Amino acid sequence: MTTATPPDAEPVWTNWSGKQSTATATLHHVRSEEDAAAVAGEARARGSTVRVAGSGHSHQPLVPNDGVVVDVSALSGVISVDTDAQQAWMWAGTPIYALGRPLHEAGLALINQGDIDRQLIGGAVATGTHGTGAELANLSAAVVGARIALASGELVDVTAEQHPELWQVVRQNLGAVGIVTRLALQLRSAYRLRERGSFETWAELAPTLERAVNEARHFEFFWFPTTDTAAVKFIDETDDEAEYPLATEGSRVGWNYEVLPNHRTWPHTELEYSVPLEAGPACLDAIRTLLRRDFPEMPWPVEYRSLAADDVWLSTAYERPTVTISLHQGVEVDDEPLFRAAEEVVRSFDGRPHWGKVNYLTGGDLEAIHPRWSDWWAVRDRYDPDQVFLNDYLLSIRPER
Ligand SMILES: Cc1cc2nc3c(=O)[nH]c(=O)nc-3n(C[C@H](O)[C@H](O)[C@H](O)COP(=O)(O)OP(=O)(O)OC[C@H]3O[C@@H](n4cnc5c(N)ncnc54)[C@H](O)[C@@H]3O)c2cc1C
Repeated sequence: MTTATPPDAEPVWTNWSGKQSTATATLHHVRSEEDAAAVAGEARARGSTVRVAGSGHSHQPLVPNDGVVVDVSALSGVISVDTDAQQAWMWAGTPIYALGRPLHEAGLALINQGDIDRQLIGGAVATGTHGTGAELANLSAAVVGARIALASGELVDVTAEQHPELWQVVRQNLGAVGIVTRLALQLRSAYRLRERGSFETWAELAPTLERAVNEARHFEFFWFPTTDTAAVKFIDETDDEAEYPLATEGSRVGWNYEVLPNHRTWPHTELEYSVPLEAGPACLDAIRTLLRRDFPEMPWPVEYRSLAADDVWLSTAYERPTVTISLHQGVEVDDEPLFRAAEEVVRSFDGRPHWGKVNYLTGGDLEAIHPRWSDWWAVRDRYDPDQVFLNDYLLSIRPER
């Protein structure tokens, strides 16, 4: 295996916020599927661990390990498009921002996407990345096929029909079962969107919340603790022509891939929990009470979005319509006091944590809130019995056998 040794224990990999890094692993750039399969198989033979890195936008310690960090960013681009089925195969290392144009030129579009487009599609799918929209599920729910390099050294094509259980694990995999080299996603026809933004006081917004979530294709708001006001956004499909140059966030008219992503450049960490749709307003109100009482100077807003139910085993929206509530904290600040206090509140509303964001749950906690937890692990373990794709964090939450 060709790997680089880090000089003087400098990190070989660091995440977006700078709070997660690894100096003890070697870095391996994969440029072909054959190489991905060889890396996986050889790591197993050597008793090494492997963790795949996407664009490093996760806040949890998902990538750090003492073995190999695999960079798949060279496996990038749209591979093929099926316009009749409205599906496309794409390399797992494709940044989401690089999907918009080629899909659009084929008359297609992602059904939804998150509020930035810097992640790689393989990383976004691995953690169930989502946007907002009461009728719109996360990216994992759009997966219709995958190719994965397993610890056995085999490249396997995974579909619901051929490998129903492995498919469930791969759809939202946490990088824990192999190196995903390509993905097929369900898409839809290209569409334009119009965005409407406004500022509202909490007193104005709160009574309208339940209606607002169902009113627009995409509804979200950022509530600011210091002013008790919210930046509210509605985004709907439109037949209007795109308006160039695109306006700033809150008033854009353009194609889906132009309007949905934003710039989120301030370095931060984030905690996000999914709660049942009907509990959303009360949960946000409880977070509001917590912040105004105990963290009144917190400059970061709280984000509120909705997410459709799905059938993805590890999804935070598994079999339940969902509201997601996110808290942010600057990287220069100790985020633990805020996040622990907030976690206690959201857990009391039956919350499930976002896999890519901070949480403090144990394996037992996760088992209690994810109905398919032990199924997911049983299938994962079957395909990776030597735990090549588990790092310390994943081992710490793995069910005991
Ligand atoms: C500024 C910012 C904005 C964000 N906005 C949103 C949002 O709107 N909605 C939302 O839901 N989340 C959001 N997130 C979280 C982010 O989408 C997830 O953490 C996502 O997993 C990051 O993708 P990545 O490519 O950076 O992957 P990484 O963070 O690098 O990796 C995530 C996981 O994917 C695995 N992985 C990556 N590629 C592969 C592969 N090819 N094969 C197997 N495993 C792989 C890794 O091993 C790891 O377990 C945001 C994060 C930031 C920092």
